[in-house]
Amino acid sequence: MYEGEFIHTQQNLDDRNSWLTVNAAEVEPFLTAPRDCTIFTYSRSEPSDRATTRYGGLPYWPKNRPWPICSGHGQHQAMSMPYVGQIDFRHTPEHDAIPGDVLVLHYCFKCSTWNSHERHTDPTCVLTWLSNIPDEDIIQADDLPAFSSSDVIGPFYGAPCITEDYEAPSESYGGNIAGESYTFLQFTLQGTKIGGYPPRIQDDSVAPAQKFLCAFGSIQPAGLGETGYHGDVCWGDMGSLIVYVSNNHPGVLSWSIQSY
Ligand SMILES: [Zn+2]
Repeated sequence: MYEGEFIHTQQNLDDRNSWLTVNAAEVEPFLTAPRDCTIFTYSRSEPSDRATTRYGGLPYWPKNRPWPICSGHGQHQAMSMPYVGQIDFRHTPEHDAIPGDVLVLHYCFKCSTWNSHERHTDPTCVLTWLSNIPDEDIIQADDLPAFSSSDVIGPFYGAPCITEDYEAPSESYGGNIAGESYTFLQFTLQGTKIGGYPPRIQDDSVAPAQKFLCAFGSIQPAGLGETGYHGDVCWGDMGSLIVYVSNNHPGVLSWSIQSY
């Protein structure tokens, strides 16, 4: 029985879309409000364009911009925040409505509160919009702060795929759709994505003044057919770090970690 997967690879996405097709007669009543979504499939092959979506590796960040610092919140000494990854918005329908090309994520794993489902704006997480950095100004490996090995992530490089996203019906949580239980991952895609529906895991309440923008999904090397753990990112228990944007102020973001 295939119950759906976090989207890591093109094969995961193809499997999901063929599941919808094969089971069209039973599934169609639930596909009432499709939304376009850009989902990223990952590989270990580094593109030459530094602005592309990625976890780890080299960031899209200007040399002359101060690197985010975590004060420690009483838990550790001030330190450079780990670079987690970035999402490339350049070729997406959302691009015209947001104030940059690339959303860069720094995150302090030492201060993180994995199980908090509240909406945050606190500095455990720094989200930065960047665009139009001249090639000669992009930070190089030698310019990066040093991080402890436990904070080194990836690298995983994302390629955008546009597909339709659907709200997971209540029947997909343990119900019986197409003879299967727990098919919710087939409807609302989980992975690194822009637009579509927010992954509904435990708390999908969105304040009316905000809307879902994008998600940094968990990623594990096993999803790419590798063994062991090399730079995996796991938000809680295979959750997502979800980013919301203010309806009236596109520069104002908030975030939450949603996990099983
Ligand atoms: Zn910290």
